[in-house]
Amino acid sequence: MTERIDGHTILIGLMAYPIRHSMSPTMHNNAFAKLGLNYAYLAFEVTNETLPAAIQSIRTLDMRGSNISMPNKQKVIPLLDKLDPAAKMIGAVNTIVNDDGILTGYTTDGIGFMKSLDDEGLDIRGHKMTLAGAGGAGTAIAVQAALDGVSEMSIFNRHDASWENAKRNVDLLNEKTNCKATLHELENRDDLKAEIADSFIYTDATGVGMKPLENETLVTDPSWFRKDLIVFDTVYAPRTTKLMQVAEQAGVAHVFNGLGMMLEQGAAAFKLWTGKEMPVDYIRNILF
Ligand code: NAD
Repeated sequence: MTERIDGHTILIGLMAYPIRHSMSPTMHNNAFAKLGLNYAYLAFEVTNETLPAAIQSIRTLDMRGSNISMPNKQKVIPLLDKLDPAAKMIGAVNTIVNDDGILTGYTTDGIGFMKSLDDEGLDIRGHKMTLAGAGGAGTAIAVQAALDGVSEMSIFNRHDASWENAKRNVDLLNEKTNCKATLHELENRDDLKAEIADSFIYTDATGVGMKPLENETLVTDPSWFRKDLIVFDTVYAPRTTKLMQVAEQAGVAHVFNGLGMMLEQGAAAFKLWTGKEMPVDYIRNILF
């Protein structure tokens, strides 16, 4: 690191709280070093209260930009100058690019989801997806998949604080994209089973399967899964979730955790800041 830092080094931030556990600094700094790019990526503990001053510092310090994570993904929007169309639809930002003091907000989680499937040679465009979850990740996945050409989407959520979000996502897809979306109650097990049976891919973006719910899964019966279904869990800790175990019992060939999505959302932000492709295979070996 010290060999790379000099008077010209350009700073990129990560503003969230808590954030010390993040893999993003390791990801980006190794990619900068590998490509010989004179940038440094640092994590900053930023809350909703300190966010306005932190965003202003991007301009003041002429930083190239920043990643934004919880609890700031929505709160940051009024502090920016411009929004990418997908970020506007999703209503959240995870990446800021500073062009001569003009700050533009992007969201790369959905791009990461689609790209991670492309990396595996799987094209879900023109097909139907059943998606559980309508929080930050579920919304980003729904919007990007619909914009990219997924033709039908059945969105499931339980009746909690995200139910209204699920309704909004379905309306958004039907009004603003060519994807035909329908809203479903996660509590209706027969409906979930039927929609999965009719889908090309089942994606769980609920976080069930992650601590403290690491022993749980929304689908417990392997007979719900066909062998040629794609099963995608956005969780990446643990590496093999309960849902993935059920899919593997069913003999499903294409079963994924969220690591590829995490890597590719970072690669998309890296490209926005530097104009260069992140060396993803090299970084995958370092991180995983
Ligand atoms: P969020 O809090 O915004 O949304 C949570 C969603 O899960 C909501 O739809 C909620 O209704 C649902 N939910 C929560 N508990 C549930 C339960 N017990 N049963 C059924 N549904 C439940 O969270 P988020 O930011 O959208 O994150 C969701 C998951 O996606 C997390 O596991 C997170 O780690 C993962 N994620 C992965 C990546 C990646 O790059 N792989 C990126 C972002 C988020």
